[in-house]
Amino acid sequence: MTLTTVQARCPSCQSTEVFYSCTPNCCFNHVCSECQSSFELSTSPLPSAGPGLDMDAIGLPPEPDACSPTAPCAKCQGIRVYQLSGGETLFCLDCRTLLKLGYENVAGP
Ligand SMILES: [Zn+2]
Ligand SMILES: [Zn+2]
Ligand SMILES: [Zn+2]
Repeated sequence: MTLTTVQARCPSCQSTEVFYSCTPNCCFNHVCSECQSSFELSTSPLPSAGPGLDMDAIGLPPEPDACSPTAPCAKCQGIRVYQLSGGETLFCLDCRTLLKLGYENVAGP
């Protein structure tokens, strides 16, 4: 199990060419380079932690680029949120909560 940076998908055109257009810990406004839609990323806690995560078995993620998609943790508001490889589930390194990615304030092209 490894962690990667958040893989956001444009809610308008499903492109993965999504960039964070602001600074970490600000407004979480993202822009799609394909269709120019803008939107904010958010998270919601998943109801159950599911099968216990063995933190020792999880490789630490690479440092994200400044323009990598970034989402705030719904629980602790931290931004050390990463995606578990091979799925859509996000994971907060700070409070160890499993999270689901959401899109808010979608503004079309
Ligand atoms: Zn901002
Ligand atoms: Zn798009
Ligand atoms: Zn957290």
